[in-house]
Amino acid sequence: MNSATFTPSPEATAFIQREHRFLVGDQWLSAADGRTIDVVNPSDGEVITRVPAAGKAEMDLAVQTARQTFDDSAWSRIKPVDRQKLLWDFADLIEKNAGLLAEIEAMDNGKSVVIAEHVDIRLAVDFLRYMAGFATKIEGRSVDVSVPFMPDAQFHGYTRREAVGVVGAIVAWNFPLLLACWKLGPALATGCTVVLKPAEDTPLTALKLGELALEAGYPPGVVNVVTGYGQEAGAALTANPDVDKLTFTGSTDVGKLIGKAAMDTMTRVTLELGGKSPTIVLPDADLQSAAAGAANAIFFNQGQVCCAGSRLYVHKKHFDNVVADISDIANSMTLGAGLDPNAQMGPLVSAKQQSRVCGYIEQGISSGARLTAGGGAADRPGFFVKPTVMVNVDQNASVVQEEIFGPVLVAMPFDDIDEAVRIANDSQYGLGASIWSNNLSEVHRMIPRIKSGSVWVNCHTALDPALPFGGYKQSGLGREMGSDVIEHYTEVKSVLMSI
Ligand code: NAD
Repeated sequence: MNSATFTPSPEATAFIQREHRFLVGDQWLSAADGRTIDVVNPSDGEVITRVPAAGKAEMDLAVQTARQTFDDSAWSRIKPVDRQKLLWDFADLIEKNAGLLAEIEAMDNGKSVVIAEHVDIRLAVDFLRYMAGFATKIEGRSVDVSVPFMPDAQFHGYTRREAVGVVGAIVAWNFPLLLACWKLGPALATGCTVVLKPAEDTPLTALKLGELALEAGYPPGVVNVVTGYGQEAGAALTANPDVDKLTFTGSTDVGKLIGKAAMDTMTRVTLELGGKSPTIVLPDADLQSAAAGAANAIFFNQGQVCCAGSRLYVHKKHFDNVVADISDIANSMTLGAGLDPNAQMGPLVSAKQQSRVCGYIEQGISSGARLTAGGGAADRPGFFVKPTVMVNVDQNASVVQEEIFGPVLVAMPFDDIDEAVRIANDSQYGLGASIWSNNLSEVHRMIPRIKSGSVWVNCHTALDPALPFGGYKQSGLGREMGSDVIEHYTEVKSVLMSI
């Protein structure tokens, strides 16, 4: 057993082994029918613990609790400055527990404990602190009005920005804690209450976040965390008319279901969905850093990144060299358990994800692709897939058009900038894109032509709390992070007073 070589701390072991319950108000509950979900360590395939499989009744109770807390509790009257302090305290507690949270994430998701601590948790803490600042800056406007049909009257017109209400947050398994904080941050800064449903594959850090929220001083009912399957607990949260806003991170297929359900009750909805992001290497790029950057763009987090650079387009004169360099990097990567601090690539999250990714690799090969690195599951326990690079692929092939969500890169040459832009945009998705070049004028001319929510230049998947993140096309609706996110967690009220 590979992960056994790396022993978790006694604190992490104690957390994993406890009897897990979900959080409603200040009560830790089990599913009424006693059903549980096995939590598997992807590094060795062993069941490490179980969490409750909450159903509709449990989810409805959580929503009712969040509703009452929003409508009629001290939380609805809390001063902005106190909301700010609470969010800052919450971030401090997450930071204080970063080591423990990183170990839990490594055992639950399979990701590197080092990445979990220094990327996932660092970004989450920074983001919550960034959001804390907005708690005291939710502002309306004073509006000079005319009211045409009342010529002699005078008015005072203004707008208020108010918390949207009960937020139902459903997240994916690839960055469990970070994605949860992307929802909690704006919800708590604006004064909403939240029901968070983590992915069934990775429920553990969300439960710990619930515990830390209570410890930070959030009144019971402000943060509720309910574990369960998507089609039961997730669907119940989506359908509940007492939810004022749904925020979802996950696949485009499930996002569409949630979007349609939200329209039945006119629930506000934002969707952070899939991607098939291009990495574009122009003729004058620094080729060494472009190759290293392109490798990191696809292999970081085992390729389980919504904006992973999964399509590589390189100018034809450098194509062979860049692909050879990326393939060398892929072939030299050290695979290892999530708790192994030296692992450069961990396992995928589940056996299901491993077989899905391997299925795509086989599909690519049977459609004529040639492998220059990797090519399937690694020969070891756990859900590992070798970092894989494919050339000789057709732009219309499923491996080029569909999100694989694993460490699989498809690479193609292009002749000129127009062709690069055309094939980069030839996708149902539009989440991210990176351009590698030293020709600034060329890059600036290209940026407006790229149909995606983020464009990185000489870097990829570089995220900052102050920059909005989200998708064009089928990559989603709305934005996470940045000041823009506040709009999605607030309603605008117009006030007109005859004076
Ligand atoms: P998924 O859509 O299968 O599941 C995501 C969440 O939705 C889980 O919590 C799941 O339980 C829940 N769910 C599933 N069916 C549901 C239903 N019928 N009703 C309500 N909830 C339901 O996605 P996944 O496989 O967990 O995650 C991978 C996907 O997430 C990829 O497509 C990836 O690109 C995307 N993602 C996007 C972003 C982004 O910011 N754009 C970030 C991370 C991941």
